[in-house]
Amino acid sequence: MGTSDQSGLRIGLDVGGSKIEGILMGPGATELARYRVATPRNDYPATIAAIVDLLARLMQNSPADTKIGIAIPGSISPVTGLMQNANSTWLNGRQFDRDLEVALATPVRLANDANCFALSEAIDGAAENAHIVFGVILGTGCGGGLVVNGSLLDGPRGISGEWGHNPLPWATSDEYPGPQCWCGRKGCLETWVSGPGMAADHTRLTGETHTAVEVANRAKSGNGAAIATLSRHADRLARGLAHVVNIIDPDVIVLGGGLSGLSHLYERLPWLMGPHIFADCGSVVIKAPKWGDASGARGAARLWDLSLS
Ligand SMILES: [Zn+2]
Repeated sequence: MGTSDQSGLRIGLDVGGSKIEGILMGPGATELARYRVATPRNDYPATIAAIVDLLARLMQNSPADTKIGIAIPGSISPVTGLMQNANSTWLNGRQFDRDLEVALATPVRLANDANCFALSEAIDGAAENAHIVFGVILGTGCGGGLVVNGSLLDGPRGISGEWGHNPLPWATSDEYPGPQCWCGRKGCLETWVSGPGMAADHTRLTGETHTAVEVANRAKSGNGAAIATLSRHADRLARGLAHVVNIIDPDVIVLGGGLSGLSHLYERLPWLMGPHIFADCGSVVIKAPKWGDASGARGAARLWDLSLS
C-alpha cells in the first residue's frame, strides 16, 4: 500500500453507460458526498465535460490536490494507450486518461469498473480479507475483476478477469453458436447472462418482450415461462463461473450490477456449479455485494492507495 495524503480524502467516479456517479470518500472510508449525472451517450466531448462538471462539484469542499480515481467500462490498453472493450463504444479508441488529465489539469488513475468493484468488495466489503476474490458485474454488460491479497491483478493487455466475452461453456446444441455480441464474436457469456442477455433469451423462447427485472417479477408471481428463463439463466451463469473457478480457484465470488439483486442466485449457483468444478469437494462461496452500486466509485477512490508496478 502506498502512503495516503494528509487529508485522507479521495474522490472516486464510476462512469457507467447510463450514469456517472461520484463520491468523496473521507478517513475511514466514510462517504462524505455523492453526486450523479446522466451519461451523455454517444458523445465523447460531452462525456468528458460531464466528468469535469461532476468533479468540480465534488472538489468544492476538498483540497485541490485530492486524489481522483475513475472506474471505466473497458480499459486503457497498456499497448496502445487507447481505450478498449467499453460497451459504451463511443469511448473506444480514445486517449481517455490523457484527455481527462488535460481537461482536469491533474493526474487521474483509471481502472476497469469491474476491477474497481472487486477491489472495493475485497478491501472492506463482502469479501473483506479473502485471499482470492473474483468480482462480477452482471448488469447491462458482464464484467469481472480479480483481487489477490488486496491487490488488483493487472496484466500486459489490461484485461485480467474479463470473462464476459469468453463463449458460454458446456454449450448445448441449441445454445451454439449463440447470439451476436457487440464485440463482433458470437455466443459471448455477456449475450446470455447480462440483463439484456436474459431478456433476449426470454423473448426468443416466448415472443414476449420484458426487461430482466420484469422477468424476475413475473417469476415471483408464479409465471411459468419467466421461472424457466430464470432457471436457464442461473444454469448458464453457473457454467460461466465454474469455468473461472477451474482457472483461479477464488475464495469468494461477489456478484454486482443489477442482477446481483436476484436472491435465488446465491443459493442455487453453488449447486449448479458443482458438477462442472474440477475438485472433489468444497462448494464455492458466492456473496452479494456489501456496497452495491457504490462499489465502483468506492473502488475507484482506492486506486491511489494501491502500489502500482
Ligand atoms: Zn462479446
